[in-house]
Amino acid sequence: MGKKQKEKKEEASPPEATAVEPSEGPVPEPRQPKTVLYCAVCSFPPEYCEFGSRFTKCKEWLNDAHPDLFSQYYSEDALQSKLGTMTLAAQQKLEKDTAKKEAKADAKADAALKKKMSSQVTIKRIERNKRKHVTTVHGLEAFSIDLKKAAKQFASKFATGASVSKNPQGLDEIVVQGDVAYEIVEMLEEEVGLLKGVPADNIEVIEEKKKKAAAAE
Ligand SMILES: [Zn+2]
Repeated sequence: MGKKQKEKKEEASPPEATAVEPSEGPVPEPRQPKTVLYCAVCSFPPEYCEFGSRFTKCKEWLNDAHPDLFSQYYSEDALQSKLGTMTLAAQQKLEKDTAKKEAKADAKADAALKKKMSSQVTIKRIERNKRKHVTTVHGLEAFSIDLKKAAKQFASKFATGASVSKNPQGLDEIVVQGDVAYEIVEMLEEEVGLLKGVPADNIEVIEEKKKKAAAAE
């Protein structure tokens, strides 16, 4: 069966195509694709940075990383020739718009950071009975840590069961079989594997005894 060779039949080729015959000669070496530069701040090509919301930061980056391009785009001459075609009112509007966009982006970044810094990772050591504990970990997602992958990491690290499930409040948390709360704190502090970016101050350990003592808080 494998010996059967398919012959390509040319059918219905357009008349013009016959004139151009594909050469069977040596294939020219593939050219390296032209590398396109993208701004490390806004991810646009640098000539489009001005349309992004972090133009000032973009310019700082370009000046550091590619001073030649920086002077090409933002030298006095370049700016003069560009602004020369704009009315004064248009220039002022552009400046104002840029400032507005930047203020908005800064506020957004601040809010995201604040939210992150106020997020708590709660590790609970729960006594199921005299000899059995489970450990739950809540809040890792606020630090962009994938819960399923983190559960896998715990499972293999402690050679035990670990899964993601909903806690009584309906929020996702990782449940690890065994008494590993303090080992997990250590892993977070040492940023093992996926467990990166949780400040020590944002980690809280709670012990939950089987016999509930009166909540004293
Ligand atoms: Zn940029």
